[in-house]
Amino acid sequence: MTNDFAPIRRILLDLDDVLNNFTMCAMEYLGCDLVTEDYPTEVGYDIVAAINLTHPTNCHWTPEQVWGILGVDFWDRMSVSDIFYTVLEYSADIVGEDQVFICSSLTKNHHCTAGKLKWMDRNLPHWLQGRFILTPYKSLLADSQTLLIDDYLGNTVSFEKSGGRALLVPRPWNPFNRYDTKSFITGALGNWKNNQK
Ligand SMILES: [Mg+2]
Repeated sequence: MTNDFAPIRRILLDLDDVLNNFTMCAMEYLGCDLVTEDYPTEVGYDIVAAINLTHPTNCHWTPEQVWGILGVDFWDRMSVSDIFYTVLEYSADIVGEDQVFICSSLTKNHHCTAGKLKWMDRNLPHWLQGRFILTPYKSLLADSQTLLIDDYLGNTVSFEKSGGRALLVPRPWNPFNRYDTKSFITGALGNWKNNQK
């Protein structure tokens, strides 16, 4: 991860587990009964393995079953995250509202697409409405003045390799899991704000 807070001109925001609570909501939806602190960090970024390790029954979910069961209402009704307001406020302050975009990937289930569009319509402020890029190939958008804020290490690493800047949001499934998410993000974005000229 970069410690370089040199000025940026554009910010791309991941949706799942940055602006919403996807992983914990999905695990609860599938019958797991645990809080964020109980996430099995040893499986890393693998929600299917996390579900199979912590599910109260001995059933074994396949990836197809997990992604297939998440309907439009699940994606639409997901709660906003602990850093939702902080990230939006700082991002707009740092680069201006017209340079903030949502950058999110979709599952193969069309319910995900429909539900995410509904979620964004209901939860995002007016200035961020319609400003989304739905792709897993986030590094295509990388350049030296664009910052990606994402919880998946694979995304932040490939974005930086492609010449972009990245901020990894501390979550139990990534190497920053020892940090307090809200203070880490507030500190990092505060540094960018102070260095923005
Ligand atoms: Mg994510």
